[in-house]
Amino acid sequence: MTDSSESLRAIQEKIAKAAGLAQREEDDIDLIAISKTRSADEIRPLLEAGHRLFGENRVQEAAAKWPELREAFDGVKVHLVGQLQSNKADEAVQLFDVIHSLDRPSLVKALAKAMNKQDRRIPCFLQVNIGEEPQKGGCAIGDVSDLLESAQAAGIEVAGLMCVPPSVVNPAPHFALLAKLAKDHGLDGLSMGMSGDFETAIKLGATHVRVGTALFGKRV
Ligand SMILES: *Cc1c(COP(=O)(O)O)cnc(C)c1O
Repeated sequence: MTDSSESLRAIQEKIAKAAGLAQREEDDIDLIAISKTRSADEIRPLLEAGHRLFGENRVQEAAAKWPELREAFDGVKVHLVGQLQSNKADEAVQLFDVIHSLDRPSLVKALAKAMNKQDRRIPCFLQVNIGEEPQKGGCAIGDVSDLLESAQAAGIEVAGLMCVPPSVVNPAPHFALLAKLAKDHGLDGLSMGMSGDFETAIKLGATHVRVGTALFGKRV
């Protein structure tokens, strides 16, 4: 049986290897352990193994789990990787260290207002609907420039671009396109790659990979 701390080591080794093959530094790639649907008891072994960077996709779930875990472990960072409703912007700014799902002007407004009110600035990634899928979050490829401009004008630090490519096709062209878009806009951060494709994402420039299943096992 492999527990999550063994999986963590295995994934870190794969990240190091993929980085080496791409002639990149391992330290330039952050592993975000996606802990959505996992209980505090499932998360604790990773914290005990020294891991500090986690991702959640729901505000409410993060509010229920993380304040207590943050009390128990120093230096924890929690990133929001799921869709965010504008009416939860305040809570999101309180709870998270980075937001990966800034994808529309109304959310720029809500987040800027929340950050000003709390005097707490957290970096955001602009989520891009890279496969142009109607049901998916993320701004249209053609809207990246405007969204970036409005976020920066509102005082939000834009860390880079994020995507969740279409699930059945080869993700590589989508990762490559996101990397090109980021470069064209002078952005360094690239949040891309999940359990099945993080090595491909690293090859194409990912700075943040978001891995859930490969760490914790299948979600039930
Ligand atoms: C769930 C989720 C992940 C992790 O997916 P796995 O396939 O379990 O690694 C990554 N990014 C986002 C946005 C997610 O919602």
